[in-house]
Amino acid sequence: MLNILIVGNGQCGNRILDAINREAFGKKSPLAKFYSQQKYKSNVQTIAINTAVNDLKEMKFTKAKDRIHIPHLHGVGANRNVGKHVFEDNKTHIMRQIEERGNFDVCFVITSASGGTGSSFTPMLVKELKDKYDFPVYAVVVLPFREEGTLYLQNAAFCLRDIRESSADGIILADNQFLKQMGGNVESAYNGINDMVARRLLFLLDALDSEMMMVTDLGDFKTVMSGGAGLATIGFFEADTDMPVRSAIQKALSPSGLLFSSDVYKEASRAMVIIRGDKERLSIDEISTEVEKLSSAVGHVFKGIIVRNGELPQVLAVLTLESASELENLYAIAVDAIKYERDKKERVATVKEVDRAFSQIDGMDPSY
Ligand code: GDP
Repeated sequence: MLNILIVGNGQCGNRILDAINREAFGKKSPLAKFYSQQKYKSNVQTIAINTAVNDLKEMKFTKAKDRIHIPHLHGVGANRNVGKHVFEDNKTHIMRQIEERGNFDVCFVITSASGGTGSSFTPMLVKELKDKYDFPVYAVVVLPFREEGTLYLQNAAFCLRDIRESSADGIILADNQFLKQMGGNVESAYNGINDMVARRLLFLLDALDSEMMMVTDLGDFKTVMSGGAGLATIGFFEADTDMPVRSAIQKALSPSGLLFSSDVYKEASRAMVIIRGDKERLSIDEISTEVEKLSSAVGHVFKGIIVRNGELPQVLAVLTLESASELENLYAIAVDAIKYERDKKERVATVKEVDRAFSQIDGMDPSY
């Protein structure tokens, strides 16, 4: 049995963590957090951390004892410098909370790259964990919609760099911009994206702790994640009744199956493909053909098969990337955003018009 720690930082991290707990409870009742036992096979501990108490209160499926409020007025207002100070001041308290939960084999830290709390806490928390413990730490990072504004774009660029420099064992990318076709308003797009991320992580945890027909384990996952440029993404697809497993694998690897835009046949470096479903539906020939196609393009592919009677075939693919053209695009617009904010700050510092306007009433008092 694996001991797994999942931390959700900031609003986005908290919400994805809550979606994970909802899926794991197997019930959609808001009372689940009070009454039910989690249905994880592994020993999974979840912790939500936030400076904004309202984001923590919003959580419905995560136990109160697992929601840690770090007081700082009403959050850190997308300012990563403030966030870093707040983390530093509260580091001992946060690390104690983690230590009290025991020993772990692996940890996932979930955050958005672009807000204030999660984006500043995550690199620092990863570093603390890596300094103190031996287990691998993976960051699950949500990238912003590109039209969300200059501050979010610059935060995303610096946050990702900080996480890479924090000795994280890998970064799993999910991109709001790429996934926004989930449709509806922003709130339902968020919920859809959060559910996608949650389901994939739970599928992965299930697979790492399963007795499979063909086995993949935490060691294989670590090897996959250590390949490429330290960046990864996850593909997933569930077949419908008549779909052959071959098509389900192709769909999990196609752009519409991924959490981050990539042509995996060109950009992936290593992969792990896990197929779960009824034995009757899992043609070994079809699975081998598709996996070989992928491995001839990317190099090494680990393959796992989990037999579950009566289940339609589901395919999960973890892919590390050796290049990521979409990330280069994001950094190109983030550079413009950083320059724009810097120029604006300089302008504000030098423009004296407003001061001149005020100075006209220096020494005067209102008369009534
Ligand atoms: P923090 O609380 O200060 O860490 O900030 P947030 O987590 O709210 O970060 C803002 C970024 O996260 C923006 O790019 C939002 O689009 C994104 N975001 C906020 N909430 C969610 C959510 O529930 N799901 C997803 N996928 N993205 C979110």
